Amino acid sequence: MSREEMTPGGDSAGARHFRPRRVLVVFVDALGPSQLETFEGLRGLPHRGRLRGILGYSCGALPTILTGAPPERHGRMCLFAHAEREDEGVLSPLRWLGLLPRQVHERGMLRRAAARVLKRTEGLTGYVDLYRVPPELFRWLDLPEREDLFNAERIGGVETFLTKARRAGLRVFAAPWQMPEEERWAHTCAVLRASKPDLAFAYATALDGALHRTGNGSQDALATARRLTERIEQTVDAMRAGGGDVTTVMVGDHGMADIHEVVDPKRMLGELLGTRLFVDSTMLRVWGDERTREKARERMVAHGLPGRWLDTEALVERQAPVRGAPYGQALFVLREGALFAPSFVGGNVRGMHGYDVDSPSAYAAIASDAPLPRDRGALMDVAGWVCAMLGLEGETNPDGRPPWAAA
Ligand SMILES: [Zn+2]
Repeated sequence: MSREEMTPGGDSAGARHFRPRRVLVVFVDALGPSQLETFEGLRGLPHRGRLRGILGYSCGALPTILTGAPPERHGRMCLFAHAEREDEGVLSPLRWLGLLPRQVHERGMLRRAAARVLKRTEGLTGYVDLYRVPPELFRWLDLPEREDLFNAERIGGVETFLTKARRAGLRVFAAPWQMPEEERWAHTCAVLRASKPDLAFAYATALDGALHRTGNGSQDALATARRLTERIEQTVDAMRAGGGDVTTVMVGDHGMADIHEVVDPKRMLGELLGTRLFVDSTMLRVWGDERTREKARERMVAHGLPGRWLDTEALVERQAPVRGAPYGQALFVLREGALFAPSFVGGNVRGMHGYDVDSPSAYAAIASDAPLPRDRGALMDVAGWVCAMLGLEGETNPDGRPPWAAA
């Protein structure tokens, strides 16, 4: 059956004749609803909305956009997880770093070199960064993202919409995320003009970087939004040059909050010595039996830590991965605007995300030249929407809802 004959598996019985379109998805890291407002000059994407995000960071949100599944299904949430078996995680060979003095093993150059070696020896094609993780933790830590998300067939066992489109015989282009930003945009435009893909996935990280460094409303962030506006418009033009009906969807994974409170976790970590912990920029994750967890919670409360304690039940409610407790049996998530610094993943910055799901910065923005379906309001819905626009039959969301069919 040719694509032109397909009809969307929508609701109305007398379905209109459905013509699949060519679809350009522009993913902009850290494009939340308030960040979208800084893209003042962006033409042609008048339909805008906000999407409920997930608990976790981009390494969880991006898989949710690509698969349409919540983190509890694809298993991604934070960059570092607890290994299934100690000493067998992909990071365990790096324990030797702990033999070096701290001033040496914390050097960026050494860490980057170690990450390069690890990528090569373990065949990792995903995003690898060792940040400031204490080397003694490498024994039990693991990196869940081992694959190139845009080229992997599945993420945590769940197919991406890129995979579904490729399997259906569509021409698919996904921007090489490893390329530097400007080079990546130039490459994307060149490929779109030359190969006229049915589905293109463009990728921007510059906004996230600028917002972390300098915060919302900074010159750096505004200049980045202006530059991205130009790049996106050029990319849309390049996609349209291929002819046919083109729909553009610009989507973020979360927003960004300005930091106004910095919490140094050092003293608390000293008090909890012996407890298995991981300090992300906005979360303190805990492993251990009930008594251990209760003690950890008590210490955090005693320190007046601003935020919320999320036990397993609260994590389940948020559709976070809990089977095997890869990201902690419980965790403390800071209130929006607070930051752990220094944490195991970085120092002080001006902007951060990764707060609880009801925080404004946990929402992502979406903008399109096609009307947005009213009942769609979550990151999880994007994949089903893209599939429906491409005319990929029988695609439903993991919760069984039918794909959205454009009016
Ligand atoms: Zn970020």
